[in-house]
Amino acid sequence: MTTNNQLQQRKQAVIARGQGNVYPVYVAKARNSEVWDVEGNRYIDLGTGIAVCNTGHSHPAVVSAATKQLQDFSHTCVMVNPYEVAIELAERLTALAPGSSPKKALFVSTGAEAVENCVKIARAATGRRGVIAFTGGFHGRTNLAMGLTGKNAPYKSNFGPFPADIYHVPFPNEAHGVSVADTLGYLKHLFKASIEPCDVAAIIVEPVQGEGGFYIASPEFLQALRILCDEYGIKLILDEIQTGFARTGRMFCAEYSGVEADLMTMAKGIAGGLPLAVVVGKAEVMDAAHPGGLGGTYGGSPVACAAALAVLQVIEDEQLVHRARWVGEKFSATLQILQREFPELILEVRQLGAMIALELVSEGDANKPNTALVQRIISLAPEYGVILLVCGYYGNVIRFLPALTIEESVLDEALERFENLFRRAIV
Ligand code: PMP
Repeated sequence: MTTNNQLQQRKQAVIARGQGNVYPVYVAKARNSEVWDVEGNRYIDLGTGIAVCNTGHSHPAVVSAATKQLQDFSHTCVMVNPYEVAIELAERLTALAPGSSPKKALFVSTGAEAVENCVKIARAATGRRGVIAFTGGFHGRTNLAMGLTGKNAPYKSNFGPFPADIYHVPFPNEAHGVSVADTLGYLKHLFKASIEPCDVAAIIVEPVQGEGGFYIASPEFLQALRILCDEYGIKLILDEIQTGFARTGRMFCAEYSGVEADLMTMAKGIAGGLPLAVVVGKAEVMDAAHPGGLGGTYGGSPVACAAALAVLQVIEDEQLVHRARWVGEKFSATLQILQREFPELILEVRQLGAMIALELVSEGDANKPNTALVQRIISLAPEYGVILLVCGYYGNVIRFLPALTIEESVLDEALERFENLFRRAIV
């Protein structure tokens, strides 16, 4: 039998160490919320491959749609000979995107590529250079997306120089003493000190900071950004790569605020694990880019588009928007009981739909991130049969991104396992 250890050694010999892995656990099979490794051990997946398998691993409807498409044809390039699945998906996504303005879509392959294209389009639409992003934000690992990312290690350290004309402003974060008014004040300072608003093409923001620690942008903040962008002719980009596709208890998180983006990104949960990303934006903004200026070889792969159409159907048929809230509330109920017992270790339980986080500190002090405890929890997680992810500025936040289709019995089992794991890690 091949062991995890053998595979980890083979991996380390041939895959660059920059592409690290959280767990030396090698997957043989996965179904819905359960994963089995090559040694036959079973795990409950609370990370869904970083918010990708919202509809669970290998949902039968997604498998059959992708398989049928693969049998018909696998690739022609949407920029050479297009096909109906891409058009149908664009019709569905432009209708689903929040806001009433007519919309258009652009197909690409990864989240970072969607982010980069938003900036290209915003610059073409405004003729301006500047882009404002937020501290703690994450937008990807390509050069422009990395430049927009507001966290150095491990994303930016050693990888400069970064593109010019990117400015970062503190993200409002009540738990750490930054109010919405503070952030709006920092933006005003920026306009005085570093870049005139008439030179700013776009402001990019995540409705919930994902890698940054699951800090939720309040509706009030997103509405204030919308007003500011309208006042100065700046394009508002909402990065919904991690928050989209029912994850937060809405199809898209922006629905909570009623804010319509000029451009939004979609990826991750869109296609059940097949690589697909999309920019959806107001039609007149999207069409600012000239023909041939946007695209790529694999963007809008027919197999990924077919999978995405099936994912949308599953979200509707299984009422996953509502289920995400139910799943999230089950998690936060258990985590809040733990928080009441250990207030000195758990600063905050944050939850929006099935995006749930536990911020760990020492002595109940927001300024004492407990990264060591998070690392202990992660190192014990395989033994307890759960797959967990970390996030946060200081790596002191455990994030839970369960499949929205997780069976109730598996969910209960996962919570019990996590509680036992937490109690073991703190001794
Ligand atoms: N934006 C956000 C909000 C993300 O969470 C991510 C991925 N974690 C990205 C962009 C980058 O996506 P990808 O890894 O597909 O390039």
